[in-house]
Amino acid sequence: MAVIIDGKAVSKKLLEQIKNEAELYEKKPCLAVIIVGNDAASKIYVNNKRKTALELGFKSIVTELPEDVTETALIKEIEKLNNDTTVNAILVQLPLPKHINSAKILETIKPEKDADCFHPSNVGKIAVNGKVFVYPCTPKGILSLLDEYKISVAGKNVVVVGRSNIVGRPLAMMLLNKDATVTICHSKTKNLSEITKQADILISAAGNPKFIKKDMVKDRAIIIDVGITRDSNGKLSGDIDFENVKENSSYITPVPGGVGPMTICSLMQNTLDLFKLQNK
Ligand code: NDP
Repeated sequence: MAVIIDGKAVSKKLLEQIKNEAELYEKKPCLAVIIVGNDAASKIYVNNKRKTALELGFKSIVTELPEDVTETALIKEIEKLNNDTTVNAILVQLPLPKHINSAKILETIKPEKDADCFHPSNVGKIAVNGKVFVYPCTPKGILSLLDEYKISVAGKNVVVVGRSNIVGRPLAMMLLNKDATVTICHSKTKNLSEITKQADILISAAGNPKFIKKDMVKDRAIIIDVGITRDSNGKLSGDIDFENVKENSSYITPVPGGVGPMTICSLMQNTLDLFKLQNK
């Protein structure tokens, strides 16, 4: 039976450390979040970010813009935050409405204030294993979880399912930078289970509920579930068929309570780190 990785407990501990460190500074780190439209899930995420930031004693700015905001108006808002010296970290909540070019928006955020490391120049630094300002929140949270459980990735076969710019792609590069042997899978991958069965560490970020079954996983593998899907009753599911897969794996993250809490924790750490860089 697997050890259940407790993301909630790790996140609580790390947030406490962040709070203690932030208290040492006279000025307070400031996180600015822009949200466009009325997407219910996005609103919940943004409220949680604001609440956590305030609990840590950070300053929190939330800019709410209507669904039909123009790209030009949104860029203006970002530029205002770029030029505001009291703002340390900027995040534009995704997804954005279809009429807005997300890539263009993410490129507008000043790289030094890019709280989620989505700017191409920051992503490029990860790609060349260079010195970054901060790492993207969810991949960083996953690596922090593994660290807390003293799980090294060096030399291990790590299979990442999912290649989005938010999770799979940067995560794969970060794992490679830590000497893992990385395979990236996606919806066009053939014989997925033949590949997942090779994984010492399997990380799934597909958003496909419970599709990783027991027979797709090697005995004693370490399983990290990034997927979050809400069914019609509001119940959350991960990508992993948790109840069955946990029997033969060595470590496994639950959903909820695994990777999820780590993402917000990384965002707070990134806000503090960017604040420190800007106040050296
Ligand atoms: P995307 O939809 O952008 O990407 C999903 C990726 O999974 C794509 O690369 C897709 O392939 C691949 N994929 C989908 N279905 C399959 C399949 N059956 N077999 C193999 N690959 C598949 O999602 P995100 O990366 O933004 O998010 C992924 C999941 O993680 C979601 O459930 C999301 O809610 C969750 N999430 C959780 C976070 C957390 O804090 N825990 C943070 C961010 C996301 P292709 O590229 O070919 O389409």
